[in-house]
Amino acid sequence: MSKPKRLLILGSTGSIGTQAIDVCSRSEELEIVGLSAERSWEALVEQARLYGVKRIALADQHAAARASEVWTDGRVLGGAEGLVALVVESGADLVLNALVGSAGLGPTVAALGEGIDLALANKESLVVGGELVSALAQATGARIIPVDSEHTALHQLLAGQPLGAVKRMTITASGGPFRGRPRSELQQVTVDEALAHPTWAMGGKITIDSATLMNKGLEVMEAHHLFGTPYERIDVVIHPQSLIHGLVQLDDGAMLAHLGPPDMRIAISYALHGGESVALPIEPLDLAAVGQLTFEAVDLEAFPCLRLAREAARAGGTAPCVLNAANEIAVHAFLEGRLRFLEIAEVIEGVLGELDSEPVLSFESLYEADRQARALAADAVIALS
Ligand code: NAD
Ligand code: MG
Repeated sequence: MSKPKRLLILGSTGSIGTQAIDVCSRSEELEIVGLSAERSWEALVEQARLYGVKRIALADQHAAARASEVWTDGRVLGGAEGLVALVVESGADLVLNALVGSAGLGPTVAALGEGIDLALANKESLVVGGELVSALAQATGARIIPVDSEHTALHQLLAGQPLGAVKRMTITASGGPFRGRPRSELQQVTVDEALAHPTWAMGGKITIDSATLMNKGLEVMEAHHLFGTPYERIDVVIHPQSLIHGLVQLDDGAMLAHLGPPDMRIAISYALHGGESVALPIEPLDLAAVGQLTFEAVDLEAFPCLRLAREAARAGGTAPCVLNAANEIAVHAFLEGRLRFLEIAEVIEGVLGELDSEPVLSFESLYEADRQARALAADAVIALS
């Protein structure tokens, strides 16, 4: 057998991170060489002990200090620069970026800059810095392999097609817990209702993004950057069963669909094995038991976040970065009970109206737009509460 691939997992205590560890524990082809979390140092140290990992990083300096007091079997790095140092020092062949939000951009840039292949769950990296991130990957020859059920589906579907044969692509959305409800019923929904996703168990931020359909807007941008497909050729359709994840339409009118159980380990394993399908202990679908696959158009009046994301995507420049930052602040405020559900879109629309889209000249212009949008969104949250 060839040498195992050296894997660094960023965000290893989260929903994607823990499932990635599960995938690794079943594969002899993968060796974990580094782990990171934001502040949950106890869980991180426990993972390091269990898997014999010698390098960990905590974004929170305080948590990093606590970890280094109790864990002396390896190196503990701290802060945002610690995360980047972990990427650069770990000697990894592959980095899984499973952080949440634009905090993932720095490590994405660090990995690609070093020419290290990237399994990318942190879609916000592509939303915020798509052009620069793609150019960097091209310059260093590092691959970006998606970890997102829809994009894994498209990646696999496109692998069998000659360039130019694909006319359109479609990503599916479950519709979230509020599918079918009119706008008038959405203002009073609670955090618990919004967190009760019908088909997927995920981290808090993406679960709220799924309830507002912002997640699908971010995914349209993710698909655009991953596959170089123009926005007008990327469709979204509601598919409540979450069993078809992506479709491509060919020039001859045929459509190819990718089906599978809603289990992220399939997407994670595919990416960690370099875009290859490897055996997993997952029950395949019983189509007769499934019975029906249904589809609906998106109600953009009830779920304006998808419209806002499409508008920001079309505007380009710093607009997607601004949209993303305002969304992060608004979702955080909603989760803390400081904002109502429909006000999430209201905050984002207000911030997009206040900040003109600027050309993206460097990563610095993105960090600046991110800072400005966060400040304006925080003010908007206070004004509404
Ligand atoms: P999560 O909240 O469960 O986990 C996030 C991880 O990142 C944790 O380990 C946390 O400690 C760390 N983290 C959070 N903020 C950080 C920061 N500022 N700096 C450093 N580390 C930080 O999130 P998740 O659901 O696993 O999602 C991770 C990413 O994967 C997101 O971009 C999400 O959109 C994407 N994704 C998730 C799923 C899913 O099923 N969970 C599916 C598709 C895509
Ligand atoms: Mg997805």
